[in-house]
Amino acid sequence: MSEKKEYGMVEKAARDWLTKRGVRIEDIADLVYFLQVKYHPDLTLDTCIENVERVIRKREVQNAILTGIQLDIMAEEKKLFAPLQGIIERDESLYGVDEIIALSIVNVYGSIGFTNYGYIDKQKPGILEMLNDKSSGECHTFLDDIVGAIAAAASSRLAHRIANVE
Ligand code: MG
Repeated sequence: MSEKKEYGMVEKAARDWLTKRGVRIEDIADLVYFLQVKYHPDLTLDTCIENVERVIRKREVQNAILTGIQLDIMAEEKKLFAPLQGIIERDESLYGVDEIIALSIVNVYGSIGFTNYGYIDKQKPGILEMLNDKSSGECHTFLDDIVGAIAAAASSRLAHRIANVE
């Protein structure tokens, strides 16, 4: 894509951080495709990309991205205070704040989002498997949930729009 888009400062920062952490818009669109193709066999990856783009335009989504990635990086650099440092580093399952931040994204497009988020969080396809690879030395305790939530929200948006057209 040669066309240069102008983004606001917060949106640009959120997009840049996603890229720096190894997550491309296409990777999230692949998750949307995974969630929705069984309901919409004619679905294209372009439609998935467009819906992910729309979700990322929302300020509450950008805020979640910036907050989650910042905490992941601080944990990687061992800069958090105990006991939070260990809890985030180990991605302790009872912690749950990563999921709460993710749900603030899912909420944006209503209740189908919750089902999609729960499902994709269990299946962990594509980029989610990579983000969950604990042997990488990287910490994505927050980002994996955020990426799953963006995919779930984009899926809900897409499903609503297709339902309204049909
Ligand atoms: Mg997590």
